[in-house]
Amino acid sequence: MKRSKRLVLLAHCILNSNAKVVGLAQYAGALEELVCGHIRRGSGIIQLPCPETTFLGLKRWGMTREQYDTPFYRSHCRNILQPYMQQIEDYLANGYAIEEIVGVDGSPSCGVNLTCAGYCGGEMDDAARQHNNLREISGRGIMMEVFVEMLAEKGISATLSAISEK
Ligand code: SF4
Repeated sequence: MKRSKRLVLLAHCILNSNAKVVGLAQYAGALEELVCGHIRRGSGIIQLPCPETTFLGLKRWGMTREQYDTPFYRSHCRNILQPYMQQIEDYLANGYAIEEIVGVDGSPSCGVNLTCAGYCGGEMDDAARQHNNLREISGRGIMMEVFVEMLAEKGISATLSAISEK
């Protein structure tokens, strides 16, 4: 039996940069060095859903954590993560290990250590003011926050790490 019984869960865009806000992708498709490292170590890879693409689609603007911090978006994150929670529970119950969950620091949704803030309101002609006000802050993005809550509700602790959005 060759299976490693080890899994990693990667933020969606680590395997598919096409999901990112237009202009933010730093690689063409998958982040080769990270993905190949997990492949070489024999880990199974689960691709998490992209909460922003499944909420606002590919024509969305870059937004901040404050803008996504709504009951509607939190509920959306919970809904799309539910099938992954069930997979995690089943793998753990059958002796598999979740090695880590890898997010994207700087993202308002998938940040683990860093997220972005600076919403200042207004119409689209205030975009420059909004852009100038953007800053990275310590803390989790909304989906990662919801994910950790859902894991805790099941008594599951997981190692979290992140790539940088830049
Ligand atoms: S960081 Fe998260 S929300 Fe942003 S593109 Fe990647 S998976 Fe989607």
